[in-house]
Amino acid sequence: MFQVKDENSQIELDQEQIKFQSPRGMQDLLPEEHRYFTFIKKVVRHRCRQAGILRITTPVLEPTELFVRTVGEDTDIVTKEMYTFADKKGRSLTLRPEGTAGVVRAYLQNNLFNRPQPVDLYYFDPMWRYERPQAGRYRQFWQFGVECLGGENDPAIDAQIMHLGWKIISDLGLASDIEIQINSIGCPKCRPQYLENLANYYEDKKHTLCAECKKRLETNPMRLLDCKNEDCQLLAQNAPKPTEHLCQECSDHFQRLQEFLKVLELPFNINPRVVRGLDYYTKTVFEFWDKKKQGAAALFGGGRYDTLVEQMGGPATAAVGFGMGVERLIAEMKARKIGVPHKDKVQVFVAQLGHEAKLKCLPLISALRNEGIHTMNSLGHSALKAQLKLADKFGAEWAVIIGDLEVQQDTALLRDMRIGEQQILPFDQIIPTLLNIFTEEQRDTYTPGELEWLETENDLKNNSIYFQ
Ligand code: AMP
Repeated sequence: MFQVKDENSQIELDQEQIKFQSPRGMQDLLPEEHRYFTFIKKVVRHRCRQAGILRITTPVLEPTELFVRTVGEDTDIVTKEMYTFADKKGRSLTLRPEGTAGVVRAYLQNNLFNRPQPVDLYYFDPMWRYERPQAGRYRQFWQFGVECLGGENDPAIDAQIMHLGWKIISDLGLASDIEIQINSIGCPKCRPQYLENLANYYEDKKHTLCAECKKRLETNPMRLLDCKNEDCQLLAQNAPKPTEHLCQECSDHFQRLQEFLKVLELPFNINPRVVRGLDYYTKTVFEFWDKKKQGAAALFGGGRYDTLVEQMGGPATAAVGFGMGVERLIAEMKARKIGVPHKDKVQVFVAQLGHEAKLKCLPLISALRNEGIHTMNSLGHSALKAQLKLADKFGAEWAVIIGDLEVQQDTALLRDMRIGEQQILPFDQIIPTLLNIFTEEQRDTYTPGELEWLETENDLKNNSIYFQ
């Protein structure tokens, strides 16, 4: 059934033979991918913590209506890309295609508007969109996003959130060649007039539009501006610009935003064709682009959405946020040949011969791990040679070997795997010797912190709202 290749005893398996595959466009995150994920998560956590932004996780499923009403009925996400199904009671549920709607729902449902404002939140979660899988586009992908809710309707906050995004991509080594594309798409006061002008502009040019844009003209005309079709792009170049139709308030907001971006020394470009595809944005929208690749490669994007909370039944609440695709960040890091540090290295491999040796190995392995030394073993193997071969394959730097003789003599062999030399040591000297070899810095002594013993009911309540 399987073909075993002799040289390195690898099995070559015909993919057709495997009975199950992951759903199309959804992939496993293997340990190598997790090195990037872990690094990015650390950067995000660190930068958010510095800015008082706290983590939130919403359920992967939400009522379908939530997305239809907020992202917008005529958007690509809602018309084409949602994973929607009915549960056993016939309720329509959707796997979240983006993060903002769920966070705003949570803000309202959990009365977060009663907490000191602003409530600044971030998420780092998988999203689902039924898109045609291709490089950089998946059906399950991860997004990190920030939502600042209940702050002021002040462009300084828009600038700050862009600055946060900038710091994060800088930490990931991605800031060079990136330019922030900013635009303002107005508010419910000024946008209707703009949309009318836009529709008028396109009225006698309809025949040159792509099929998709012909439809968009009726449903979501601003999307005509960021269509990737060449003919549509030519038309978009001369189309009325949203920034030319702003009311005084939106215009001031946009002007001041630019001043703030300048003092923060963020490179930006006013781009009338960045409109974002979602209905909930007001005033500022932005995307981070690679200057060399232009719109083909928005690293991430976001904007202000001052009407969304109210539209969902809450109090009038200013809000601004962004979302970054994690896979896209990783792809960009790899394209720029950026690796990340990780702690997956095996430092010590403990090899043994027989039951008596195993009795000594188990506590030894546990003690080494407690000291922060990454220790592996293969207690199921009996042949020493096979175990050492394995130690080599795992890249272990050192091996501790305990055979019958060592058990009798209460010793162990310590082998430097890189040069193949070994020495006999009294068993109780193994740990101190390895602690000398691996400096404190090389040891993995991470701790999540000290436990606290809570005294009052109130302390308990403040520490965990749901799990009690
Ligand atoms: P959007 O809400 O469409 O602007 O998406 C925000 C970010 O999520 C994008 O800039 C991408 O980095 C990422 N993203 C969106 N859709 C996908 C997808 N299908 N696969 C992978 N990443 C995606």
